Amino acid sequence: LPNHTAVVSHIAIDIGGSLAKLVYFSREAHSTEPGGRLNFHTFETDHIDDCLEFMRKLKRRYQRANGGNSPPASDLCVMATGGGAYKFYDKIREVLGVDVLREDEMECLIIGLDFFINEIPQEVFTYSEEQPMEFVEPADNVYPYLLVNIGSGVSFLKVSGPREYERVGGTSLGGGTLWGLLSLLTGARTFDEMLDLASEGDNSNVDMLVGDIYGTDYGKIGLKSTTIASSFGKVFRKKRQAEHEAEDSGGLGHKDHLHHRQQSSSQTHNGVHTPPLLDEDVEQHEPQLPDFTAKDPNRPFSPADISRSLLYAISNNIGQIAYLQSQIHGLSHIYFGGSFIRGHPQTMNTLSYAIKFWSKGAKQAYFLRHEGYLGAVGAFLKRQP
Ligand code: ADP
Repeated sequence: LPNHTAVVSHIAIDIGGSLAKLVYFSREAHSTEPGGRLNFHTFETDHIDDCLEFMRKLKRRYQRANGGNSPPASDLCVMATGGGAYKFYDKIREVLGVDVLREDEMECLIIGLDFFINEIPQEVFTYSEEQPMEFVEPADNVYPYLLVNIGSGVSFLKVSGPREYERVGGTSLGGGTLWGLLSLLTGARTFDEMLDLASEGDNSNVDMLVGDIYGTDYGKIGLKSTTIASSFGKVFRKKRQAEHEAEDSGGLGHKDHLHHRQQSSSQTHNGVHTPPLLDEDVEQHEPQLPDFTAKDPNRPFSPADISRSLLYAISNNIGQIAYLQSQIHGLSHIYFGGSFIRGHPQTMNTLSYAIKFWSKGAKQAYFLRHEGYLGAVGAFLKRQP
């Protein structure tokens, strides 16, 4: 554990579908200074046992600081929020041997965000390519605003005042979608590897751009030639082209390929013999994932280009919905939170650009340095020791 001597008094955890976010307070044991520090850690929810072990060590530290092995552990405050606060409730209590206080996830998000906005200097910022991190001073009145929380899925919350909020929408095309699809389509093993790939990629190799269709821009309706007309819209044509080329050069021909698949589709499926299917049916029922990741020199798409394209697709979509929600509810301040953002320039640029573009500059996207910890900090603050 970092900061080994510090005394821990208060732990909060936000266990989501993908990640468990842990926040705890510590101060130096013999410090005469008041105050201490907030510590932040993230674990994959799949590795919840590691997270609980970490918390158990924090508890031991708390116990030692309070004089022994059988201390008033009940004084150690453990707060939990997110779906995992329910799913793992018994387990957390069992492993830690302390009571766990559960808090509402959405409420925690806005309590955390309000705290970051109002209390933490150099936390909230706007993003543009020219000025990637322009910090924002807290305004006198921050309400009402829209919070777009991009976790595994996405929630849109209209916040009208402290602890006054309504979940006005959501989409399942979120961080989990990027994480999942890129794990299928690229060889990347971690989310950060995917983001690194995206930084290097060129989406115009897979996306169909306005320029691909028009040969120029479409100025009349405000579309630049580089505007994405169709995410992944070039893939089918390019892939077919590559297959034809392989066929012409005597490689695995297109027909052989289909024949092979037809054969496999006529085999016993769940114990029932299914007849051979038409080509179209084969395509629909047995989608075969192209092996983009293999070190195949002929593969027409690079993992980096695919990553960039999907990152744009997901972020553009969220940016557009965020703008529409802000219009419906008359909100001009839009905060983006959730671990999906991860301080990644292309993600923030896309979201920020979408808001600026659609609102014709009237609305502003805000980001946070601790974007992933809104819920955990909110839970932490709900019971101040
Ligand atoms: P949840 O509460 O649903 O788990 P989060 O706000 O923690 O949501 O965001 C989860 C998303 O953050 C993932 O789906 C992924 O897009 C992204 N992410 C950021 N860092 C990581 C990481 N280290 N491992 C996995 N996903 C990550």
